[in-house]
Amino acid sequence: MTAYGVVTRNEEEVSWGEFDRGFYEVKDVTGRAAAPLSDAVNMISCFGDNAAVEESPELAPVTADGERATRERPYFDWAYVCPTQPDYRAGILEMIEDAAAENDAVRLDDVGFPRAEYCYCDRCGEQFTAWASEQEGVDDDAERGSDAWFDWRASVISQFVAAATDRIPGRTYLTLYPDPYPGHLYERAGLDLDRLAGHVDEFVVPLYDTAYGTTYWLETIAKGFQTRLADLDVEFSVELYAVNVDVDDLIHAVEVAEAYAREVFLGYDASVAAAALRRMRADRREGTEHGVPSGSDSPDGGDALDSGDSPDSGDAQDSGDSPDSGDARDSGDTPDGGDALDSGDTPDGGRE
Ligand SMILES: [Zn+2]
Repeated sequence: MTAYGVVTRNEEEVSWGEFDRGFYEVKDVTGRAAAPLSDAVNMISCFGDNAAVEESPELAPVTADGERATRERPYFDWAYVCPTQPDYRAGILEMIEDAAAENDAVRLDDVGFPRAEYCYCDRCGEQFTAWASEQEGVDDDAERGSDAWFDWRASVISQFVAAATDRIPGRTYLTLYPDPYPGHLYERAGLDLDRLAGHVDEFVVPLYDTAYGTTYWLETIAKGFQTRLADLDVEFSVELYAVNVDVDDLIHAVEVAEAYAREVFLGYDASVAAAALRRMRADRREGTEHGVPSGSDSPDGGDALDSGDSPDSGDAQDSGDSPDSGDARDSGDTPDGGDALDSGDTPDGGRE
């Protein structure tokens, strides 16, 4: 049985009865921080932090040309922090420790270098040189951009994840960029899946769309990850974006994702997510297939459930049947609705 979870910034939503698991953003890419919860898997954006970089621009990784990895680059949706920055890194590990003290499972988000062209800061240069001189078979004057440099970057990230998981007594989830193309996560982000699988229990792959009008790409990418991870001792799950998505389309996306993923998580609109799961479960009880073109609403779907169809009907769902939280539902919109996460940009899925 697939487990279903919600991803949210709203404390009360993590315990809604529809969800097997709640992920709560303790720190997101905006840098906004909240206290961790005991009844949720707390999520921490590790090296994505707009606020930190705004305050101290020198935290951002740089290319050889001195370009910082911030939102001024058209391909970055948030600002990055250089993974070798010692004080920032220590602060994140402390945050992870605090989260793990509340709930022994923790999810690490935004782990890695921004892209293959990073980081050319002085500190990274020194650390790479020191590392190269200690490695057997690596030229002492190996240059940045070489194979050895990519290996060093992956060791920086693997060591960070190892230090993080040392502080996580329970399950460690780690979010991956949705790119199963062989070698890409390693070359671009410094994510060596073979090494990371030794530390991480479950990779989470966000596959975000604002409508899920088509799902062939979702199927392709999910299958790509299944193939890539097949020989590793690690699970993988898919996270979908629920904000304003038509409930039928979301259900179809869930069904595609769960063909490959251990769990499916629904992000940032708990009302829509809950409506989809209620309908799915009701239909399964009745043996109805979903994902068939419209006009095929199950006759038994119940009135309240059907009102969940309208894409922007946060209100309609307030009449919803969740036994536990008529009120919570009203606040179901994410609190800081203005930022990139809510504007339909794909937070973790936006890389190219
Ligand atoms: Zn650096």
